[in-house]
Amino acid sequence: MTEAASGLDTRTSEVLYARAAGLLPGGVNSPVRAMRAIGRDHPVFVERGEGFELIDADGHRYVDWVCSWGPLILGHAHPKVVEAVCAAAERGTSYGAPTEGEVELAAEVCERFESVEMVRMVNSGTEASMSAVRLARAATGRDKVVKFAGAYHGHVDGLLAQAGSGLATQGIPASPGVTAGQAADTVVVPWNDRESVSAALSSHEVAAIICEPIAANMGVVVPADGFLELLREQAEQSGALLIFDEVITGFRVARGGAQELYEVGADLTILGKVVGGGLPAAAYGGRRELMEQVAPAGDVYQAGTLSGNPLAVAAGLATLERLDAAAYGRLGALTDRLAAGLREAAGGRPVQVASAPGLVTPFFSPEPIRDFAGASACDLDAYGRFCRALLERGIYPPPSQFEAWFVSLAHDEAAIDRTAEAASEAFTTALG
Ligand SMILES: *Cc1c(COP(=O)(O)O)cnc(C)c1O
Repeated sequence: MTEAASGLDTRTSEVLYARAAGLLPGGVNSPVRAMRAIGRDHPVFVERGEGFELIDADGHRYVDWVCSWGPLILGHAHPKVVEAVCAAAERGTSYGAPTEGEVELAAEVCERFESVEMVRMVNSGTEASMSAVRLARAATGRDKVVKFAGAYHGHVDGLLAQAGSGLATQGIPASPGVTAGQAADTVVVPWNDRESVSAALSSHEVAAIICEPIAANMGVVVPADGFLELLREQAEQSGALLIFDEVITGFRVARGGAQELYEVGADLTILGKVVGGGLPAAAYGGRRELMEQVAPAGDVYQAGTLSGNPLAVAAGLATLERLDAAAYGRLGALTDRLAAGLREAAGGRPVQVASAPGLVTPFFSPEPIRDFAGASACDLDAYGRFCRALLERGIYPPPSQFEAWFVSLAHDEAAIDRTAEAASEAFTTALG
């Protein structure tokens, strides 16, 4: 689509993108940002963020429903977060030695997550899930991991696997550069499919079942009634560990993540995004007896030059400090209003608005979505038209049907109502 058709002057973004495309693969540092999935010929280049708004390089303001893909639960440049980061920077940006702040953050995580007694901090969700899987393998003496189709746990080689042919067979590489051997250690099964989980566990010696307890990387797909309980049960029966990847759901859907919301505990928990308050930080944690197998307490090696970075720790602590019961009440109410607004805007069109606290997805589908096959069957072109129409109207949606809309505490009723109004026109553009 050309920018003439969009009605917005995007010259600066276009010039920047032309330059970026010669210097960065696809002009970006992470694929979804390029906006190719919604048929845009260049992304929006950001100049700054303020609360719920993004301001682009051409001076346009957008209601931001991406919020850096989850970390910004307080919105952009929250004064308390900025203050904490600046104060930390004045004391030095990294020491490669322990600090009081990281102990406080660890205590806060352990206090909120019932199943977590100890944590190790790392720099990205990818690193956290890679490390949690290594620990699970060491603890069980087994190699295989069961994951769900459409779930994302970062770009860890072995987890970039897709289902092989046949039920519960070993995975095959989902990206060039992943070896057949790495993918073969992963068994990929459909989300919300009880029989496939049982089949996978009875045909393989499984070290861990890894899941997003509320799937949010195929759009938002909540677990079917009893599904997380089934995973808990099956893990115990088979001697596998249950890993909850709460990089998105942690500190978002409830104070103590999806495991608090559904009252199902994990053996290992992966955290990221909100825990770093918008700076690079992530963590994995679990029972003391498991975590003490990590070096130097134990012999499972894992390390990081910038792990527990004092700026990221300060941002994380300043963010978590604001996430009390009232904040979760507010986030839930804002989410409900956004979901209801989108539902009403869609009218009788074939759109399913799924949500969990702090997360929303309008699926372009006549049927409710239960798994990745369902999400993949959505009208992706219509979602693209919808997003392009929203961008023209000053609304910045996640530029992929498979990414969740992130609600923050900086959003307000007026921003949501403005979004619903724009969505009403955008649905007409997308679906007639
Ligand atoms: C974002 C994400 C990751 C990866 O985190 P990065 O910090 O991008 O490496 C892992 N798991 C889930 C569920 C995520 O949403």
